[in-house]
Amino acid sequence: MTLPLRPELAGLEPYGAPQLDVPVLLNVNENPYPPSDAVVARIAADVAEAAHGLNRYPDRDFLGLRRDLAAYLGRESGVVLAPDQIWAANGSNEIMLHLLQAFGGPGRTALSFAPTYSMYPEYARDTSTAWVAGRRADDFSLDTTVAVESIVRHQPSVILLASPNNPTGTALPLADVEAVLAAADAVAGGCVVVVDEAYGEFRRAGTPSALELLAEHPNLAVSRTMSKAFGLAGARVGYLAAAPALIDALRVVRLPYHLSGVTQAVARAALSFADELMAQVGSLRDDRDACVAWLRERGFTVADSDANFVLFGLFDDRHAIWQGLLERGVLIREVGPEGWLRVSIGTPAEMASFRDALVEVAGL
Ligand SMILES: *Cc1c(COP(=O)(O)O)cnc(C)c1O
Repeated sequence: MTLPLRPELAGLEPYGAPQLDVPVLLNVNENPYPPSDAVVARIAADVAEAAHGLNRYPDRDFLGLRRDLAAYLGRESGVVLAPDQIWAANGSNEIMLHLLQAFGGPGRTALSFAPTYSMYPEYARDTSTAWVAGRRADDFSLDTTVAVESIVRHQPSVILLASPNNPTGTALPLADVEAVLAAADAVAGGCVVVVDEAYGEFRRAGTPSALELLAEHPNLAVSRTMSKAFGLAGARVGYLAAAPALIDALRVVRLPYHLSGVTQAVARAALSFADELMAQVGSLRDDRDACVAWLRERGFTVADSDANFVLFGLFDDRHAIWQGLLERGVLIREVGPEGWLRVSIGTPAEMASFRDALVEVAGL
């Protein structure tokens, strides 16, 4: 029997980083610190409370969560946002899917600049949106002349910019985002610019957030996630800030009651500990800077990072290095342009294991 699989899916494997049972996991940019006992206790109590109401569908518009997220983003970035400027979903992966369901589709194009997040082309494929990847400059910044040329040529309806970018760690200056927005405004039929700030909280002091541009750009969407800075990857909560009219379009394509009552309770409980969790982000940022400095002292080429990971190289045989680390119990990621490897920032003990293993494997 033949299954009527869409031809563009024929022969494809499900995407995902290897989930291996290894002592030191530095491969998917998770926060290495599990929720504290106090956070766990609050989550447990609030989920128990929510469980009493699980016979009912959850609040479809999750207004309480949107209020809390708006307040958090205001504290984090200094940009005042109203709850109707916030959207949330099961991870920012689902946020991106909503964006492409609403603004992409057959006959339309999504544009990004590589190397960047490897999931973007999958969202495009799954929504039958044509996918075009332009190039970033050699230092992984955006060459705005090249970017504007691609926008003029391809007339995309959606542009995806990760900042800080995965896997390179590169944050975009606001002037670059503004150059892209200006070119997007000239696209016939309109164009939504998505700045994916999944790693926004890890940006270095003085690096701005694209949230600052929201007030002037009704076609800008800034997405964030609780998976990285909040250490809540297992809860699956992503969110986005944009003008209310853009959010209204996402409300049309979402599945009914897509955000479960349990998920809403977990997210709100964690948000009530935002200050404690952000203090931990500060120490991860310091550990990131220390990792960059250590790698440079040992002669590696290292991309500047505003994220909780570091891209470093250059290796003639990066797979051998990756494999050697794995044999020593340290799992990192073989990703990015040829010759580079990416390591997520773990606990100080995990980083020591990484350094020791790398010294051995690279023969330093
Ligand atoms: C990790 C990551 C996300 C977050 O995905 P979730 O679905 O929220 O866990 C989004 N964008 C980029 C670039 C990422 O690296």
